[in-house]
Amino acid sequence: MVNIIQKFIPESQTNQRPGGKMNPEYITVHNTANTNKGADAEMHSRYLLNGAGGRTVGWHFTVDDKEVYQHLPLNEHGWHAGDGGNGTGNRKSIGIEICENEDGDFGKAVSNAVWLIQQLMNEHTISIEKVVTHKHWSGKNCPRRLLDQWTGFKKRLDNSKENTYVPPKQEVKSDKVTTYKGDSIVDYLNSIGKNSSFKARKKYAADYGIKNYKGTAAQNIELLNKMRKGKPASKPKPTYIGKRVESIHNGQLRFYNKASWSDAHVAGYLKKGYGFPTIVSKVKVGKGYQYKVKNSKGATYYVTASSKYIKVE
Ligand SMILES: [Zn+2]
Repeated sequence: MVNIIQKFIPESQTNQRPGGKMNPEYITVHNTANTNKGADAEMHSRYLLNGAGGRTVGWHFTVDDKEVYQHLPLNEHGWHAGDGGNGTGNRKSIGIEICENEDGDFGKAVSNAVWLIQQLMNEHTISIEKVVTHKHWSGKNCPRRLLDQWTGFKKRLDNSKENTYVPPKQEVKSDKVTTYKGDSIVDYLNSIGKNSSFKARKKYAADYGIKNYKGTAAQNIELLNKMRKGKPASKPKPTYIGKRVESIHNGQLRFYNKASWSDAHVAGYLKKGYGFPTIVSKVKVGKGYQYKVKNSKGATYYVTASSKYIKVE
């Protein structure tokens, strides 16, 4: 799980954000070739926002050892593949730069990129064959630190089955900074300290009203969203349970040996101020309600629940 910070290049900066629509089919991997201290994802974000020194260049994500910055929405193409204005690399691929600043942990940055690419492959149904190097498009020696281990890198991308992509919660305006966590259900459960085994997830799913949980991505997302919103409050115990009920009726108030209003089931009469010490439950009888009650000896009776005739205290 890595934080993705969306800080889109303003639409007015057409050299970095050409604005042409894209339906991504490929993912292109780059290295920044900038080993300077501090040349991390945040710095590259500033570089693009500040006009990239006048260059016509723009890509979608920069990944370092701590976080990911997103510079372009994924339905717009950038300029990063070096294969020309109508090149497939430029026009149809998501560009990802992996930082190699000397004060960063390159191995961790690569791991974060693996995570990000897996999310993108899932979300955009991009197959492993379509994750390619910058070199693939233009022959440039890029990503220079991964080319000699490209096969191994691709292998790491291949176990993406367990990942679930959680899209950002809201549309992000181009000049707004929004952070969200692209976390999976497993990450989420880990973050709140719960056992993230399938069995545990199944139990939570049941708690949150998801039937027949099989751990599918869709069910995981549903569960995650429900967990984020919080569990529906379980019905509070009715306040009358265990309380005393007493007649406030000036006449004789009937009570019954069955849940019934019938004369045949009348067990006796309560004078005003008399009652039963313990309400057990409330039951619907015909059109009205009765309290099921116990007397001091534990015998069960029924008496009207209408506040016209009784009070509960
Ligand atoms: Zn490159």
